[in-house]
Amino acid sequence: MDTWDYAPAPESAALANVAPTYRPFVDGAFVDGGGEALKTVNPATEEVLAEVGTASEQDVDRAVAAARRAFEKTWGPMPGAERAKYLYRIARIVAERSRELAVLETLDNGKPIRESRDVDVPTASAHLFHHAGWADKLGYAGLGPDPRPVGVVGAVIPWNFPLLMAVWKIAPALACGNTIVLKPAETTPLTALVLAEIAAEAGLPAGVLNVLPGAGGVGAALVAHPGLDKVAFTGSTDVGKEIQRTLAGTGRRLTLELGGKAANIVYDDAAIDQAVEGVVDGIFFNQGHVCCAGSRLLVQESIAEEFSELLLRRVETLRVGDPLDKNTDVGAINSRAQLDRIVDLAAAGDAEGAERWTSSCPLPERGLYFPPTVFSGVEQTMRVAREEIFGPVLSVLTFRTPEEAVAKANNTPYGLSAGIWTEKGAKAMWTARRLRAGVVWTNTFHRFDPTSPFGGYRESGFGREGGRAGLEAYLS
Ligand code: NAP
Ligand code: MG
Repeated sequence: MDTWDYAPAPESAALANVAPTYRPFVDGAFVDGGGEALKTVNPATEEVLAEVGTASEQDVDRAVAAARRAFEKTWGPMPGAERAKYLYRIARIVAERSRELAVLETLDNGKPIRESRDVDVPTASAHLFHHAGWADKLGYAGLGPDPRPVGVVGAVIPWNFPLLMAVWKIAPALACGNTIVLKPAETTPLTALVLAEIAAEAGLPAGVLNVLPGAGGVGAALVAHPGLDKVAFTGSTDVGKEIQRTLAGTGRRLTLELGGKAANIVYDDAAIDQAVEGVVDGIFFNQGHVCCAGSRLLVQESIAEEFSELLLRRVETLRVGDPLDKNTDVGAINSRAQLDRIVDLAAAGDAEGAERWTSSCPLPERGLYFPPTVFSGVEQTMRVAREEIFGPVLSVLTFRTPEEAVAKANNTPYGLSAGIWTEKGAKAMWTARRLRAGVVWTNTFHRFDPTSPFGGYRESGFGREGGRAGLEAYLS
């Protein structure tokens, strides 16, 4: 199908105020880290954006000690209503600096500016406001009349939603009276460090929030630190299992938000055009680097042919390119390593006999990109149906009966999210009750709201983030 040509509509990179160097944030100040500096790149061009100082094991010690002091002397004893004031201030500054944060996120991560601007940053701000409101009402959360903070939290987060994942941990931790040491992902440390700057600007007492950039080793040193009371991790299932082994027997609390391989189920009575949009959003949002991405389409056999035709026609119109361009639908893949992984898993799809369709959208000449890809004729045993690709690759399977849809949807070691598309409320409820997934969306997908708990089961982890249930992880 022909599409209109769009004139370029680039957002200005200058809005991000990228500094040449960034440093770890410990005990209320930016400090020289003892680790080897890393260079963070813009995946859209592979150019170096900034040099970032990283933490050594001594810095981990210092940060945990600072968080302990703050927990005992300032933040822990502070009344909830006072803590709320700081959180509201941070939330307001995030909203005020939203344009800068959105551009910085897009530069460091590669996601389209439309998404960082309309999803990541506003949702981060909403989570801060939401949790600020809880700080003085914890006694009404249904967790006892006087719930207490857990203590010092160590948090490790991935690169796909760098600011949002940082806030998902920081906001509830601080609202509940805990202090925190956060390790952002190696390839996307910048927005977490600007968030630290914002916390300082808001007057947050020293040691309450500490940010330690670095690679996986810094994360491993942090989660193993005996000075922590709780670890909150978002990332891959393999690293999550390793952390669980490290913490076994220590009595320290742990929540894990891990991978997924969500089914998006389309019944033959669904509003077809709406379902096509939802399926496209489900897998191509954020280049498919989404733990709850709808990466397995299960479409009822009677409409499979018609649905596939409409779906491919729609996917063909997605614009892949400069993430800073406001017309871009699919941006850059965050790292060379992730691109290689997507290429390998897609090749496994070919080798196992699935049929690959690739969008003809031209890709930029430089930078890390992968075209929107759809595999049809996928069998449940194939790797593209079982493994998390974490890229813009959709696997299409079919089913005949609701029972078969549920059985196939649940045929995965994961259990994070799922989607259902049908006109019949009773059918949606029947299906949702049988799906083993932490979040089930009906006639929509990728809805994130701070009042609503998010999390998985089985290999997708345990514990919830958001809503009243999310507070439980940070209170004892
Ligand atoms: P990852 O390799 O597990 O990395 C996640 C974080 O852990 C990064 O900060 C990483 O540092 C750090 N890390 C690596 N090895 C570690 C170790 N041994 N001990 C402690 N920390 C360690 O995951 P990823 O590939 O970056 O992220 C993609 C995965 O995250 C996907 O599987 C996705 O589904 C999952 N995810 C889940 C959710 C959710 O809410 N359930 C949300 C987003 C992503 P480096 O960056 O330096 O490697
Ligand atoms: Mg980067």
